[in-house]
Amino acid sequence: MRGTLKPPRLRDNCFALPQGVDWIPVSEALTRLETALTPVVQSETLLVDQAAGRVLTENLSAKRATPPHPNAAVDGYGFAHCATGYGPQYLPLVKGRAAAGHPYAGTVPKGSALRILTGAPLPEGVDTVVLEEDCTIDGQAIAFHGPIKPGTNTRCAGEDRAKGVPILTAGHRLRAPDLALLAATGHEAVPVLRPLRVAVMSTGDELRDLGGATEPGHVFDANRPMLRALLTRWGHEVIDLGRWPDNPDSIRTALDQGARADAIMTSGGASAGEEDHISALLQAEGRLHAWRIALKPGRPLVLAQWHGTPVFGLPGNPVAAFVCALLFARPALELMSGAGWSSPLRFTVPAAFAKSKKPGRTEYPRARLTSRGEVEVFTSEGSGRISGLSWADGLVELPMEAAEITPGTAVTYLPYAGFGL
Ligand code: AMP
Ligand code: MG
Repeated sequence: MRGTLKPPRLRDNCFALPQGVDWIPVSEALTRLETALTPVVQSETLLVDQAAGRVLTENLSAKRATPPHPNAAVDGYGFAHCATGYGPQYLPLVKGRAAAGHPYAGTVPKGSALRILTGAPLPEGVDTVVLEEDCTIDGQAIAFHGPIKPGTNTRCAGEDRAKGVPILTAGHRLRAPDLALLAATGHEAVPVLRPLRVAVMSTGDELRDLGGATEPGHVFDANRPMLRALLTRWGHEVIDLGRWPDNPDSIRTALDQGARADAIMTSGGASAGEEDHISALLQAEGRLHAWRIALKPGRPLVLAQWHGTPVFGLPGNPVAAFVCALLFARPALELMSGAGWSSPLRFTVPAAFAKSKKPGRTEYPRARLTSRGEVEVFTSEGSGRISGLSWADGLVELPMEAAEITPGTAVTYLPYAGFGL
């Protein structure tokens, strides 16, 4: 049986809240989510060229020093420092030159200089380089003003990273600069996790796909393009399950299709109304836990399992769906993908707005930094105001207890960039 028999991906009751818990604060929801989930994906080896966005599974060290040889940092003339001093310096030029990829094979005698270009390995006899612009040259010799510090305009072998020193750690998601570091330190292929596969679906009889005909009462599906782009940006593989009407049979079919993914993300139909078939079906045939999280915008966030696959049931309102995806789905999926739990960047900045806020829930108005380094919020708080999401470059986090915010009050600003966008 070993080999085919696998333990369930999640504990049966992993999303259950203790008896009697009704509303939970955002911070508690995050802690509960972090403890409920574990990494689920396998590793593979990929060429560095193909590894952008993937998560490393091992700590890596430099296989090669960078730079691999001492070299010139500028175009100029190289010589032995010990033969120079104060005041005007005159050095005869030796024949030939050293250029990047074309090392000078000979030795430069003490008291002479050699034409050397940026990136060229320093030849025997050269430890210092004078910048071309600081010299006069007649073809036979160079003249410049001393003193010049020893080692000027040169780079030592391994001054960036020596061979064998650590460069990147397991769990790191590779970005473009990391690929440069891997290449420079001699890594051709790297051990990485396969991407997390996340199935995305929208639900609602009123929804239509772009390009389709609309009749009165129809709205375009705004969540799927948004959620797909978020997931792709976060490095996951998206399985688009499409858009489904509000009936249990359709949604059952969709969830069955999604069960081959590592996680399912739904939007819409997650409340407790008569047309909220996501929650009804997950309640009847899956494992449903509707977390009533004390936040705005946001309706109950549905956390469930469909035949062992975790389901993140986001609210249908695009604003609430976006905020819940950033706050809850992102760190949860990061954890499942092997990159570890992540918290957004938070900056304290003065408010450029006034607001009275009732205590008891955390609010996330859509926000944007002004050129004066203050943060302003979108005028309407309605969670149907999709344009506010697009207007913003981040969120403000107004904590449970916050009450009266006046211009100048220090508030917490969470840039979209800190959510990996
Ligand atoms: P629901 O969560 O299904 O009750 O939907 C709440 C609101 O969000 C309704 O006004 C829906 O029309 C709207 N909505 C739900 N899903 C989407 C979607 N994918 N795109 C745009 N609006 C949506
Ligand atoms: Mg609906």
